[in-house]
Amino acid sequence: MSLEDIKSAGLYRRLRNQVDTGPTRAVFDGRKATVFASNDYLGLRHHPDVLEAAARALEKYGASAGASRLICGNHELYGELETKVAALKGQEAALVFPTGYMANAGALSSLAGSRDLLLMDKFNHASLYDGAKLSGAQLKRYRHADTDHLHSQLERWTAFEHRFIVTDGLFSVDGDLAPLAELSSLAADHDCTLIVDDAPGPGILGPGGQGSSAHTQAHPAIETGTFSKALGGLGGFVAGDRETIELLINKARSFMFTTGLPPATLAGVSAAIDILSAEPWRRERVQKLAAYVRGRLIEIGLEVIGGDSPIIPIIIGGEQDAFDFSEACLDAGAFIPAVRHPTVPRGRARLRLTVSAAHSDEEVETMLVVIGRIATERGLI
Ligand code: PMP
Repeated sequence: MSLEDIKSAGLYRRLRNQVDTGPTRAVFDGRKATVFASNDYLGLRHHPDVLEAAARALEKYGASAGASRLICGNHELYGELETKVAALKGQEAALVFPTGYMANAGALSSLAGSRDLLLMDKFNHASLYDGAKLSGAQLKRYRHADTDHLHSQLERWTAFEHRFIVTDGLFSVDGDLAPLAELSSLAADHDCTLIVDDAPGPGILGPGGQGSSAHTQAHPAIETGTFSKALGGLGGFVAGDRETIELLINKARSFMFTTGLPPATLAGVSAAIDILSAEPWRRERVQKLAAYVRGRLIEIGLEVIGGDSPIIPIIIGGEQDAFDFSEACLDAGAFIPAVRHPTVPRGRARLRLTVSAAHSDEEVETMLVVIGRIATERGLI
């Protein structure tokens, strides 16, 4: 698709100038707004403990790792963080990557090969699909969260050396949960390895914020994820058995051929993980807000999809309509981005609204009034 094609299909994207003015506030191209778009679901990006840990590490160790981890960038803070991630995930070991995208790309491209099969949920994150392509394995998609369809594929596609079932845990665009318990049983019954990308899960799901597998009492062999959402930082991880982690250290190109994360980032994320158990009220607050906002939007008469997570997609339909709705919200002081094709199917363009423990009741009420007014003006309700 050329740039012209992208423009004429109403899919043109541009970067906005943004200045953050607080945990939930920003100015976009001169327009002040409350942000209902961030993945900072617990408000940890600005938490004093996170800032202090990062500032101390910055002062002590400098601004950069200085090299890839296999050269001389394997800072001692990595060990501490990897131990915490493995414990949070209930896995033997973990490996930190510079981003969640790179963790997924590295995991799939290293663990699967040309004689293997990857069975992937149709709505999986782009990084899983990119990793799948890099692996050279055969790729089959099953219908979103459809375990019957997956089961029929498992029965059909048997002549492979190794088979993997790969899914997002909590789908970050639709906000719904994968049927992880059923996927775990299917993997066990068919001698497959289940890989779950739990990018949005840690911090917001599970009794102690462990993520989607603890929430659904599932036990995937391998989990991947990110620190850039509820953990308020940057970086990705793969958690699994020791042998898998050792293989990744030796094989994952997105691990081997890239610079380690800055020490300050590692220290900040490590502090954020400690906050999950120290301040459970944050998880409770965001869950309560999500249920409240979802309920109010349905009452207003809008089509809201997803489960009960802080990701609340409001279906608008047309690509341009979704864009215009989002712009009208921003003009009225609420930033709620439109998500369009190819991220979502054509005709299912939407506003992707997220809530955070950092939002005040007043900010939420004002946003709901704004959405109700614009939806009325546009004849959507
Ligand atoms: N997987 C999923 C499901 C995600 O939502 C994201 C982030 N949008 C990623 C992976 C990539 O994580 P990161 O931003 O750390 O690269």
